[in-house]
Amino acid sequence: MTEKRLIYLDWNATAPTRPQAVAAMADAAGLWANPSSVHGPGRAARAMIEDARERIATGIGVFPDQLVFTSGGTEAAALVMRGMSAARRLVSAIEHDAVLMSAPDAALVRVGQDGIIDLDALRDILGDGQAPALVALMHANNETGVLQPIEEAYELVQAAGGTLFVDAVQTAGKRPLPPADFLAVSAHKLGGPPGIGAVIARCATGLHAVQKGGGQERGLRGGTENLPGIMGFAAAIANSDRDWLVEAAARQNRMEARLKAAGGRVFAERAERLPNTSLIRMPGVAATTQLISMDLQGFAVSAGSACSSGKVGASHVLSAMGVAPQEAGEAIRISTGWTTTDSDIDDFCTAWEDLAARRVAA
Ligand code: PLP
Repeated sequence: MTEKRLIYLDWNATAPTRPQAVAAMADAAGLWANPSSVHGPGRAARAMIEDARERIATGIGVFPDQLVFTSGGTEAAALVMRGMSAARRLVSAIEHDAVLMSAPDAALVRVGQDGIIDLDALRDILGDGQAPALVALMHANNETGVLQPIEEAYELVQAAGGTLFVDAVQTAGKRPLPPADFLAVSAHKLGGPPGIGAVIARCATGLHAVQKGGGQERGLRGGTENLPGIMGFAAAIANSDRDWLVEAAARQNRMEARLKAAGGRVFAERAERLPNTSLIRMPGVAATTQLISMDLQGFAVSAGSACSSGKVGASHVLSAMGVAPQEAGEAIRISTGWTTTDSDIDDFCTAWEDLAARRVAA
C-alpha cells in the first residue's frame, strides 16, 4: 500500500520538531532529578537548565537572566498581562487570544485595512497626561503574517510613560527581536517542543508571579522546570537558521501570483509580511470546504483562525481589518517552513486552482 502524501503547510500552528530537539528531549527525559534539589542529581539538572538558558538567550540575542521559562506563549502572555501592575491596559485588536483573553478589560487599539496597527490611534489612546498604560502588540500576526511597526510604537509608549509587551511568538527565530520591555516566545513555533516558552523581561520592574508555587524562575514563575522541554528548546535554537526564509519569500511570491490569477485574494497583500505566511480567499468556497478538500488530497493547511475544538471560528483579525464575515469565512492560511519545497507549493497551487475551477463550473 502506498503511503498517503502529507504536505505540511501549517507551520504557524506548530513547526515540525527538529530531530536534534527530539534527541535532546529524549536524553533529558531519562533524568528524573528535581533541579531545585540540593543533592548531586538535582544540581546536575540545575546545571543543564542554566546551560540551556544561556544557549537559548545567545541564540535569540538576549541576556540569560532576562529569560523566564513558562509553559509556552499563552502562559508568557498571561504572566505579563496579569502579573504587571498597570493603571490600564491597551491591546491591539488583532492580538492572539492568548493576549486578548488575559486582558479582558483592555481597551482595543484599531488596525487599518492592511492589518497594521494604527499608530495615530495608539498615540491618541495613550493620550496626554493620562495614566501610564501596559500596551500589548504583536510582532507579526499569526493569520496574516503582517509585521507591526514595533519600534515606532515603542517610542510612543515610552514617551507616554507606559510599558510595552510584544508577542513575538511568530517571529522568534525568523527575525531579530524588536525593542520592548517584555516579549513572549514559544518553542513549538521554531522547531522545539510544545509546552515550553518564555517571557523575556528586559525590565522586570513591576512584574509579579501569577503562579507563585515554589518560587522558581527568580520568583516569577513557580513550578518545577520542564527540563526535557527546555533542552528541546535549546537544541531547536542551536540548530536553526534563517536561510530558508529567502526561498520562502520567492515561493510566497510565486504562489500568490498563481492563486491571484486563478481568482484568489491575498489579505494584507501590500503590507510587509512574514515570507512564510499567506492568508488567501477563494471566493464562493467556505474555508471548511477548502480545508476538507485539501486534507483529503494530503495538504495540511488551516483556516485563518481555528478554535481548540478544531472548528473554524470567525476571524477577529479579518474583522478588525474591515473584511466582511462572508469573505473572511472563505480564507485559508498557508504557512511554510524550512522543509517546504518548490514542488510542495506547486502541487498545492494546482489543487487550489482545481478546486476554484470546480466552484466556477458548478
Ligand atoms: N501568540 C501567537 C501569535 C501565536 O500564534 C500563538 C500560538 O498559536 C500563541 C501566542 C500561543 O502560544 P502557545 O501555543 O505556545 O501557547
